[in-house]
Amino acid sequence: MPGKVLILGGTGEAVLEARRLAAAGVPVVTSLAGRLATQPDLPGVVRIGGFGGARGLADFLAAEGIVRVIDATHPFAAAISRHARAACAALGLPLERIERPVWPKRPGDHWHWADDPAMAARMAPRLGRRILLTTGAGSLAVFARWGGPLYVVRLIEDPGRLPFHDYRIVLGRGPFSLAAEMALMADFAIDLLVTKASGGAATEAKIAAARRLGVPVLLVRRPA
Ligand code: NAP
Repeated sequence: MPGKVLILGGTGEAVLEARRLAAAGVPVVTSLAGRLATQPDLPGVVRIGGFGGARGLADFLAAEGIVRVIDATHPFAAAISRHARAACAALGLPLERIERPVWPKRPGDHWHWADDPAMAARMAPRLGRRILLTTGAGSLAVFARWGGPLYVVRLIEDPGRLPFHDYRIVLGRGPFSLAAEMALMADFAIDLLVTKASGGAATEAKIAAARRLGVPVLLVRRPA
């Protein structure tokens, strides 16, 4: 019987990895932060909520008899990845990282870069009047500080009212098709896409749609 593997999740990659390992007969525990009310359909054991830092994670790994950790978290989830490195180093456990490939810049792309969401929020009103904002629920407050444009905010779950002056909410969970992304941008006459530079195929359609429609993109750099 292979040893128990912990997948640090919250991404599509984590779901695929859990299904792959479970199909191979490996006992899998997937850990989710618990930011969303709905969970993906996952095989094996699913545990939800923070561990209490690197030490809490190390305690969990030891108590559960985990033999290997796979960090399949989002590229912008820097804290949990740091904790995984520290906890695995402390226990001498192997740690794998599923890293998304960056989106390649192609002819026709008009990209601007921001170092973090706060910088993107300052830049956005100078670059667009009708902005598709796809940086996620955690970074909305900094954008709401800067009025002026219409923000079309795409989220997975309904946040209720947002503090923006002028906004629409579009709900949806990726992956999205190129046709759907182009239709969304055309429907709202979007003139700027703001996104984290998350990379990966599942969310690349919005980048391709912006290219096709000549819409500039403001990307937030990945954390180191
Ligand atoms: P983060 O800043 O790296 O993590 C903050 C804290 O949340 C961690 O210290 C940890 O709490 C807890 N945490 C994060 N991921 C966890 C997991 N998979 N299992 C258990 N606890 C977890 O992460 P974040 O940016 O808030 O993202 C939270 C989750 O959402 C991640 O799992 C990530 O894969 C997913 N996600 C993030 C983004 C994004 O843009 N950041 C986008 C899509 C999905 P303790 O210190 O108490 O252990």
